[in-house]
Formats: sequence, C-alpha cells, structure tokens
Amino acid sequence: MIKKFYDLGHLNKPYKKNFIKNTKKIFDDGFYISGDFVRKFEKNFSKFNKSKYSIAVGNGYDAIRLSLELFKYIKVCKQNDEVIVPSNSYIATILPVNAAGLKPVFVEPEKKGLNLDPMELKKKINKKTKIVIVTHLYGHVAQMDEILKITKKHNIKVIEDCSQAHGASYENKYSGNFGDIGCFSLFPSKNLGAIGDAGIITTNNKNYEKILRSLRNYGEENFTNYGDRKYKNILKGFNSRMSELDAVLLNLKLRDLKKNNLDKSKKANFYLKNIKNKLIELPIIKKNSRPVWHQFLILAKDRNKLKKYLKHNGYETKIVYPIPPHRQIAYKEMKDKNYPITDYIHNKNLCLPIESHFNYGDLKKIVNLINKFDFK
Ligand SMILES: *Cc1c(COP(=O)(O)O)cnc(C)c1O
Repeated sequence: MIKKFYDLGHLNKPYKKNFIKNTKKIFDDGFYISGDFVRKFEKNFSKFNKSKYSIAVGNGYDAIRLSLELFKYIKVCKQNDEVIVPSNSYIATILPVNAAGLKPVFVEPEKKGLNLDPMELKKKINKKTKIVIVTHLYGHVAQMDEILKITKKHNIKVIEDCSQAHGASYENKYSGNFGDIGCFSLFPSKNLGAIGDAGIITTNNKNYEKILRSLRNYGEENFTNYGDRKYKNILKGFNSRMSELDAVLLNLKLRDLKKNNLDKSKKANFYLKNIKNKLIELPIIKKNSRPVWHQFLILAKDRNKLKKYLKHNGYETKIVYPIPPHRQIAYKEMKDKNYPITDYIHNKNLCLPIESHFNYGDLKKIVNLINKFDFK
C-alpha cells in the first residue's frame, strides 16, 4: 500500500457534519453565490489576517488578474508595461500578467530561501516597471523588508501571491499585508482550501477594495447582495465570485488554520532535525520568519531515484514543479533565456509528506529511509 501525498477526504472529514448542516440552509434559502456565508468569510478572513478588507473571488488566478486590472484602471500601468514576477513561481502567478496585456519580466530567487532575490530585482527595474508580484513560495514569506525598500524608492506597486502562505508571517506581520494587495488561492489542497475553486484578495486601501468589489461582478457599483441589485455598471468588469458552498467550508476550516499550520511546522521541524544526508539540501527558516510549510521541499542530487525509492517503500512524494515557466511550451518566447537557479530548483526538488494524514510513525520511517539512501 502506498500512502498518497494528498488525502483531502481525510483533511476535510472533521468539517463534514457541520458542512452538511449549513448546506441545508443554502438549499432552502436559495442564495448560492456571494451571499451571507461569503460575506461572513470575508469578515472572518480579514480578522484572521489582520487586513482591513478582504474580497472573495473565484480562484487564485483571478485574484491576481483583478489586482492587475485595478492597477490598470487607476493608471498605475498601461498596456505593455512591465510586471516583475519570480521565475520559479507556479505558472498561475505569471499567466494573469499576459492576460492583462502586461509584460512579465522574470527575476531569479535567492539560492537559499528560494524566494525572489532583492538584488536581482534591483537589476531588472527600468522606467517601464510598474508592479512587482512576489510569491511566498512553499509557505515562506519572501525577503519583504529588502524588497519594499526597493519598490518604495522606485514607486512600484507590490502584489503578494500568498497562495502558498495562508497565515505565514515575517516579523509578526502576516502575508498579504506587506505590499499593496495580497492574493490567496483557496484551491482544495492549499493550507486553507475550499471544496472547489475559490480565492480571496486582501488590502488595507479602501479605494482598492471598492474597485475590486466592482471588478469581480461585471463592474457593478456597490454590489452587496442579490436581493438588492441596482445593475449600475461603472467599470468593464469580470465575473469572479465565490460560491456559498465554498464559503461554508472555508469558515469552518479557518477556525483551525492556526492549529493546522502549527501541526505542519512541527512536522517540518522534525524533518529538519532528523534528516542527515549530505546529498540533500534542506529548507532554511529565515530569521524572524514563521513559515506555514505549504510544502516541505528538499533539493536532492537524483530526486527521481529518491522519489522512486520512497514510493517503493510506501510513500508518495511530489515534484512541485517539474518544469519552470520559462521552459514551458506556453512560454516558448522565453526559451533562450537563462535562469540557472530556477532550473536547479526544478531539476532537484522533491516535496516530502507533511499533510495531516501522515503521523510521526510515518515521518520516522521516511527519515530513516532518506538517511540510509546513498544515491548510487
Ligand atoms: C495555487 C497557486 C495559484 C493558483 O491558484 P488557483 O486558485 O488554482 O487559480 C497561484 N499562485 C500560486 C503560487 C499557487 O500556488
């Protein structure tokens, strides 16, 4: 028997009873999208994240897309302006930039820490640079103090892609509060995951909030609920809303997010303390940083061999991700560019099990297997 890397059935089991109870109310009341449960989730998420405003949307991709549209609307940027993105992020961070008619400019990560390198960022800034998207990869907040020094100096807006960092903090500040906008995917396997596609945007700027609320619903002004719509459209908006079913589950799971993040941290610390193999690079924890370990990502000499070996011994691992954006056919225009650290990460990464269905018995076995593996 091989233990699967994700087991969402197990993850969501504690919420099943209450979820079903609440869905009965949805069925009877007849409000399925952007209703009371969604508004409640927005309030709860703001409180959790210590962000003034939260705007529920359809998914993480849309959260980024709408944020870019906001900046186009308020004339921070226009067609063909440049947006800096991390070259080793998931492709969903970058695709919305193209969709919005802007130009993604790739910046390499730090070799230790694996998030956007402030030094490299500095080199890529020019007059056309209007926005930086920073991804807090694998649950670790990027080097925000250094990054913000640079963006402030050049008057560049910052969008944080927090899709892997719900509840992660740096110097006691939660992800999504460093830049101008925070974008969270709530895809089922994220640290906070819905029962379908969902996302949420955070901001501390009231004007941004107002525009984002409108953009997600065809550009309607002051859209609050379906019972009282004015059908007055002030923007050429989009359709990106959250379903009530997702909000029901998210409200229930949000209460346990801190506890569940802590459980992952303990497991990560167990790996960090006990894995001893010279051919494996372990993740680092930066000073004053509290990661939430969306993934426990190691870099290994021959990761495919290690993956096969662990699977043979009963444990599924995951490669996140096997191909970097600049080597995807979708970005064939980038194929001659050189991003050696990004290539290195994609060629060597392997994510070890850390989800709730793995107990310390499993972790001990995994550590023992790794420690005696000699890569021959
Ligand atoms: C999951 C993820 C996304 C995409 O979110 P969706 O909700 O699937 O659209 C974007 N960026 C990062 C870093 C992610 O991990």
